[in-house]
Amino acid sequence: MTWQARINTALEERRAADALRVRRVVENGAGRFLTREGQRFCNFSSNDYLGLSQHPQVVRAWQQGAERFGVGSGGSGHVSGYTTAHQALEEALADWLGYPRALLFISGFAANQAVIAALMNKNDRIVADRLSHASLLEAASLSPAQLRRFAHNDAGQLAALLDKPCDGQQLAITEGVFSMDGDSAPLAALHEAAKRQNAWLLVDDAHGIGVMGDEGRGSAHQQNVKPELLIVTFGKGFGVSGAAVLCSESVADYLLQFARHLIYSTSMPPAQAVALSASMAIVRSAEGDERRQLLADHIRQFRRGLRSLPFHSPDSQSAIQPVIVGDNSRALALAHRLRERGIWVTAIRPPTVPSGTARLRLTLTAAHRAQDVDALLEALRVASQ
Ligand SMILES: *Cc1c(COP(=O)(O)O)cnc(C)c1O
Repeated sequence: MTWQARINTALEERRAADALRVRRVVENGAGRFLTREGQRFCNFSSNDYLGLSQHPQVVRAWQQGAERFGVGSGGSGHVSGYTTAHQALEEALADWLGYPRALLFISGFAANQAVIAALMNKNDRIVADRLSHASLLEAASLSPAQLRRFAHNDAGQLAALLDKPCDGQQLAITEGVFSMDGDSAPLAALHEAAKRQNAWLLVDDAHGIGVMGDEGRGSAHQQNVKPELLIVTFGKGFGVSGAAVLCSESVADYLLQFARHLIYSTSMPPAQAVALSASMAIVRSAEGDERRQLLADHIRQFRRGLRSLPFHSPDSQSAIQPVIVGDNSRALALAHRLRERGIWVTAIRPPTVPSGTARLRLTLTAAHRAQDVDALLEALRVASQ
């Protein structure tokens, strides 16, 4: 088979399965409305849960940061790219989340790759929740460690897998709030199971940070659990982009030696770190509480309305509300019908979710109004008939 034939075949297979992914150009894709080709849609597909991507204070902080520092960091943090703006943000994050140290990464994907690659050796074992994000499972399967998966949120099965003989170190991996189902992990039970075997727990709280718990400190804080490694990302609740790893002093020192994404990659622009500090200040403030309350109201309103509609939806208390339809073509058709009514949603298909569970992944945000949620419910009702 030639290169060209291989590529054509792969694309053809995706097309035939209604699984071809396409990007649609939008004029603006975060916040309450998505605009595209001059048309305005109510946006139920962004992860901008608190509506901070458009917040004037965050925008201004980025502008002021750019005026002070320029637009680029000039190099990795090991060269000249670790500025006072990065340091201030790391210290504030560590303090807020109750860890000795925080290290910034340019994205959650990069953070997960870096941490798992830097920590895992040949005789080690990773035991990950089966529904963990692609960035975690990919890093785990690329690492020299053995990868085992436990049934979703099943602490008993995690314990059983960790009990099997292992010559090296073991790392248990889960998420705070799961990205496709919106449910939460039982972190205390998972951490207990890990501790019994001297395993460490890594929690990726991409969808919990800023949104869950007191001051938006996230899922782990809400459940009173302190995983050895906590990953938080800033492209969702924080409304910006980037990520941080929260850990002990020695793990941070170790990652600065061995995490290649920190050593061989340009650090985030300092202006972005300034914007993130502004975003974090809002997340922690009374305004943050108000935004979380608005989001909670929208979740309750949506769940209540959904009960009378003929859709299967797992029990999610988070901003992520999946509506499971089963096959790919039905999910695409439903998304299309909603768009015709001015509602922007994305159909999520395998391999992002297990086969046969194609779904609409609806996301509610603090930027929505009650009438937006009503419009969404009404559009779902019409589309279901
Ligand atoms: C979105 C997401 C990531 C990736 O974070 P980015 O900053 O967007 O690269 C990692 N883990 C989980 C669970 C996510 O949902």
